[in-house]
Amino acid sequence: MTRIDRGIVVLGGGPAGAAVALGLRRLGHAVTVVGVPRAFDAIEGVSDRVVAGLRGVGIEAALAAIAEPSLRRATWAGATTALNSERLVDRAAFDSMLWQELQDHGVECIAERVMRWTPGEHGDDGHALQIQRPDETQPTTLRARFVVEARGRLAPHPPQGVSRGPETVALLWRGQGAPGGEAGSAVESLPGGWAWCARLPGGAVALQLTVDPSAIALPQRAQLGAFVRERLSTVDAALPFLDTAATEVHALARTSGAVLAPEVCGATWLRVGDAAMAADPLSGNGIFQSLSSALQAPMVVHTLLNHPADAPHARRFHTERVQGLFQRFARIGRDFYAQEARWADEPFWAARRAWPDALPAHGAAGNAPPHIEGRPVVDRDRIRLAEVVVTAEQPLGIWHVDGVEIAPLWRAAQAAPGREAQALAPLLGGDAGRAQAALRWMRAQGWR
Ligand code: FAD
Repeated sequence: MTRIDRGIVVLGGGPAGAAVALGLRRLGHAVTVVGVPRAFDAIEGVSDRVVAGLRGVGIEAALAAIAEPSLRRATWAGATTALNSERLVDRAAFDSMLWQELQDHGVECIAERVMRWTPGEHGDDGHALQIQRPDETQPTTLRARFVVEARGRLAPHPPQGVSRGPETVALLWRGQGAPGGEAGSAVESLPGGWAWCARLPGGAVALQLTVDPSAIALPQRAQLGAFVRERLSTVDAALPFLDTAATEVHALARTSGAVLAPEVCGATWLRVGDAAMAADPLSGNGIFQSLSSALQAPMVVHTLLNHPADAPHARRFHTERVQGLFQRFARIGRDFYAQEARWADEPFWAARRAWPDALPAHGAAGNAPPHIEGRPVVDRDRIRLAEVVVTAEQPLGIWHVDGVEIAPLWRAAQAAPGREAQALAPLLGGDAGRAQAALRWMRAQGWR
């Protein structure tokens, strides 16, 4: 057994792990990613917003694996819409380009499976990571000062405290047809779930049936492909994708319900992406959601390692951010399910239109008036405590607007009713025009 010492080790090289690794490189840290490719080949759909998000975290070369927008037909709540709005991505191609891109940015990439992670803290030997090549019999132990868990839905969870949405499984059939057919995707709601189908320009086809596993007798794996194709043969949206000449690549069942880890940040570790919180893939926003939780994680890691006095703020920042994202995406998903009223009483739909709660997706914090609180903020490369204005829409608080700290302005405005603009001007270099503009902005937010 060999011992190797590393600084920061990221487990898993999917979008979230890659985003954190690239961000940490930009902050000057040496980073190692240990990852194996996903065991299955998926086609997924992303929006332009996801492409912008990937660019925002520094991912460029792998974008070549994302197709141009193609037609997406949606049959939901009795209406059909068709928009050129979805970009299809062959995840195997995307992930392997991402792996190469990481290395091009100076990230050490170890193509091995993580067999076991034994957490440690500063002062001892650090975290022990047992890793293994498929062709080797002896595992190797890596010692890491800091671990970023980004193994997606395969990241192990502790036995207690995990929050889960309604149990959901996606039955997937992947096939290969002749190239040249029309690329595109279609989604349709069904009494017991929903179907999503896609075809890439090269002829790869994906059929996906999302159901509640307790409401359906799942076939053996060998029969799964035939089962999915047979179920979809009566679904209008699926018919253009049921290419009888296509050969099966694989068929499998993937757990796809919403999951939130009980703890997402310790003193020398954190979880990002689906490993921290995985959302129902209904909205087709999974990659976006995983990037959202990874975006500021490099600054959290940097703070935990280099600014110990701010470590509690960094942990609070990451924890509140992940929990806030999970709740928001869960409520957005609930509202999307609730739009489908035709079979609202069917168990699949009844469970999903009621979870996680009845609070609005935006402004769930209630009607509390805007107020000032000390909360963790991202200040360039680190997290620190600052005064922010907390509102129902922005429960994590607003720190800056156009480069100006907003809490002192709000305090000054509140202290001078009737002459707010005059009170703001000294804080804005005596500029009466900027003071008026700042006041207008606050009024436009509904701050009174
Ligand atoms: P992943 O992309 O899962 O990356 C984790 C990486 O870690 C993988 O490379 C994996 O192989 C590796 N790994 C795992 N275990 C180990 C180990 N022990 N050792 C080493 N490496 C390991 N999102 C969309 O945006 N659009 C969609 O259309 C869409 N469709 C979906 C359909 C289904 C059925 C499901 C379940 C999800 C879908 N998603 C979709 C969600 C999307 O796949 C994820 O949200 C996103 O990939 C999460 O990124 P990640 O980096 O957190 O995890």
